[in-house]
Amino acid sequence: MLQLARAVVDFLFPPSCVACAELGREPFCALCEDALLPAGAFALTGLEEARAVLQYGGPAALALFRFKYGREVALARPLGRMLAEVAPLLPRVDVVLPIPLARSRLVERGFNQARELVRGFPARVEPHRLRRARPTRSQAGLRGAERRANVAGAFSVQGRLAGQRVLLVDDVVTTGATMSAAAAAVRAAGAREVHGLALLHADSVL
Ligand SMILES: [Zn+2]
Repeated sequence: MLQLARAVVDFLFPPSCVACAELGREPFCALCEDALLPAGAFALTGLEEARAVLQYGGPAALALFRFKYGREVALARPLGRMLAEVAPLLPRVDVVLPIPLARSRLVERGFNQARELVRGFPARVEPHRLRRARPTRSQAGLRGAERRANVAGAFSVQGRLAGQRVLLVDDVVTTGATMSAAAAAVRAAGAREVHGLALLHADSVL
């Protein structure tokens, strides 16, 4: 029965590469997979530790582009599975908070990519606890100090997170300014530990 269900799903939604759309394999075809650069753990201000699945670039960047700017929300499932596979490498957490989008962005895109990526994440996800406290401009095109200033105090937490271990999740971390600003809000709400996870880690400013 499970096999039949799988066959029906494969027929309706044939597995395809999240980067080049080649049919047959998910998330990446063999050719794109060969070009992927795995990422690991890295330090971010205000977090115990942050981790990403892949380095930004090549097929990984293409997949993110299709998902985020091409608004192919269906890619959230295969990409979200990649995030979920990293979960065993992370410390235990009590709650997962996706980084919220600025309201104007949400209206423009129609979905929050971070929220979509954690739909199948194997932990308690609370998508509405972390909020945007004020409007910010896009981080794209801004440099380090400008990025930090742009997002400083940009987040607030609804309710308290007293003593909790929190995992912040975003689609891509670049300088980490956004995640650090979110971590500050989470700590101010009483969190004991703050960890970070992103699908992609970009070393230089996008
Ligand atoms: Zn491919």
